[in-house]
Amino acid sequence: MYRLVYYSRNSCPNLGHQEIDAILRVSRRNNAAGGVTGALMFDEGYFAQVLEGAQSAIEETFERIQMDPRHYDVQIVDFSPVSDRTFHHWAMTYTGANLSAPARKLINASGGFDPRSLSGQEIFLQVASLVFAEGRP
Ligand code: FAD
Repeated sequence: MYRLVYYSRNSCPNLGHQEIDAILRVSRRNNAAGGVTGALMFDEGYFAQVLEGAQSAIEETFERIQMDPRHYDVQIVDFSPVSDRTFHHWAMTYTGANLSAPARKLINASGGFDPRSLSGQEIFLQVASLVFAEGRP
């Protein structure tokens, strides 16, 4: 079992529910088929995503993700073996970094989430704490 954590710059000029729904719909279909679980965090500036599963399944998934023109400057910050999944119940859940109180910790001077100053473990912990605090379906 492996866990990959990356962040990227969002290139959607007006990122909204439609754009996020389109990403989640395709992610859930593909990830369920490949035994991948995880979580996507987003705001107007950045995406951060955690992918969990077999090494080969994560690599295949990430190959597609990194080619996607909806984001750029895709930076892997962690890809390591883990003993278990954290997001067992979700082929792909999500959290909007600017939507909830715990996320204020992430807010920088420009009002957005800036993952560049965070380690892979810190991003993973932030995404997990937001997802569990928000009780996403
Ligand atoms: P398709 O079934 O053809 O799916 C492609 C779909 O993606 C299209 O229906 C369209 O709705 C949408 N799409 C593609 N490009 C654009 C575009 N430029 N603008 C608007 N819509 C577009 N895929 C996963 O499988 N798992 C993931 O966890 C995952 N996470 C992602 C996270 C982010 C931040 C982004 C930006 C994309 C993610 N994707 C994920 C999508 C991935 O990049 C590929 O688009 C997808 O895997 C392709 O799936 P498919 O080959 O089954 O193609």
